[in-house]
Amino acid sequence: MKPSNGPCGCPRVLLFPLPYQGHINPMLRLAAALHARGFAITVVHTETRAPDRRKLPVEYELVTIRDGVPPELAESDDVVPFVLALNRSCAAPFREYLAGARVACVVADVDWFAPLAAARDLGVKALPLMTSSAAKFRVYLAFPILEEKGYLPIRESNLDTEVKELPPLLVRDLHHEKDTTRYHAYADLLSHMVAGVRQSSGLILNTLDAIEGTDIANIYRDISLPVFAIGPLHILSPSVDSSLLLQDRSCLEWLDAQPPGSVIYASLGSLMSIDVHELTEMAWGLAGSKHPFLWVVRQGLVHGCEFSEVSNELQEEIRDRGRIVSWAPQQEVLKHPAMGAFLTHCGWNSTLESILEGVPMICRPLGGDQLCNARYVCEVWKVGIRVVEVENQLTRGDVQVAIERLMGQNEGEEVRERMIDLRDAAAKCTSKGESTDVSLQRLVDFIVST
Ligand code: UDP
Repeated sequence: MKPSNGPCGCPRVLLFPLPYQGHINPMLRLAAALHARGFAITVVHTETRAPDRRKLPVEYELVTIRDGVPPELAESDDVVPFVLALNRSCAAPFREYLAGARVACVVADVDWFAPLAAARDLGVKALPLMTSSAAKFRVYLAFPILEEKGYLPIRESNLDTEVKELPPLLVRDLHHEKDTTRYHAYADLLSHMVAGVRQSSGLILNTLDAIEGTDIANIYRDISLPVFAIGPLHILSPSVDSSLLLQDRSCLEWLDAQPPGSVIYASLGSLMSIDVHELTEMAWGLAGSKHPFLWVVRQGLVHGCEFSEVSNELQEEIRDRGRIVSWAPQQEVLKHPAMGAFLTHCGWNSTLESILEGVPMICRPLGGDQLCNARYVCEVWKVGIRVVEVENQLTRGDVQVAIERLMGQNEGEEVRERMIDLRDAAAKCTSKGESTDVSLQRLVDFIVST
């Protein structure tokens, strides 16, 4: 029977991240947090976007599952068909592996509904990890009600309707999918995911009481299972490097040369793509703001064009005050004293990383959970300002206005002050005896309990 418990007889936890950067990061940080508390660790991963073995502790066992998903699908930002295909292709090999292993607990991404089902069938404790916000998980739980009450599928006419069941969300913050087939595929994924969570042993959330206490409590009331809110995972295990792309560290030296609190850091995360129009307007907006800026333009960010193809005039304008990198050491960048604001797509990891460094946000959500996260950033915690499109398409003026509002006096000052308060409250959650620390100990006890 393999693998056994750890060398010292300590219980083994198997962790299975979904192969996206924003999902791998929190899962590997959870692995490190459990490892530090004495667990032996097995990381199961797909061939697609496999973690770098050299960056993980030698004691970890790594297991590859052949996913067989076509690279075109794996590379696209079309998440739903990819996740459904992965669940289909990985369920049997995962089950086969787990049947011959001896583990105390399986922790898998909430999206891994088929492997979680395999663990339950084999009598292994199964704990899904939600890598996005508690608020977004409440949207998943409420999906059937949202359909029943006519909020979904969304229509042009109801975009600004308040979702009374989930304040402060508007219908536009829910799922945007006009194509019927794709909408049904999404609904199918959610129903499998939510049913899987409801049948699991509990739920792990990468969030914290200081920012989502009410949503966490509501989830617990709804699913009646143990809920472990142990975020922010990047603070619990700060030294883990789970980056799939090579970080350009030279930007840290560039930041050293900038005045304190002056730089706009812009990044739209690891997955979403934009068109040439949006790229150009964002570039002119940043260049026109008169603040120094560091911008992540990763390969694949723009469909149909590379950054080097934008006009010479624009390239020159950018060179004056801007620095472009294809991938940044984001946490170190956000920690840097030169940081003034984060122009972000509001991916959940980026949101947490920004809050924990006290960097106010300029929000440009593009889809998925980002819409819900941006609503919370701007209207619940009030630590960011949204880029408002005056027309129906982004313009450089919209970008500049948002930057000026945040970097300026009055409104900007208030946002910056609130961000410092939120940062302090969030940091406190992770100290000894506070909510995150207590939840993590509860999780450890839960895993070893019989
Ligand atoms: N990230 C990074 N370097 C970059 C851009 C992003 O290391 O240049 C990391 C970032 O710190 C975060 C993750 O990639 O941990 C992105 O996750 P998030 O949930 O914010 O967005 P997603 O990529 O899932 O849309």
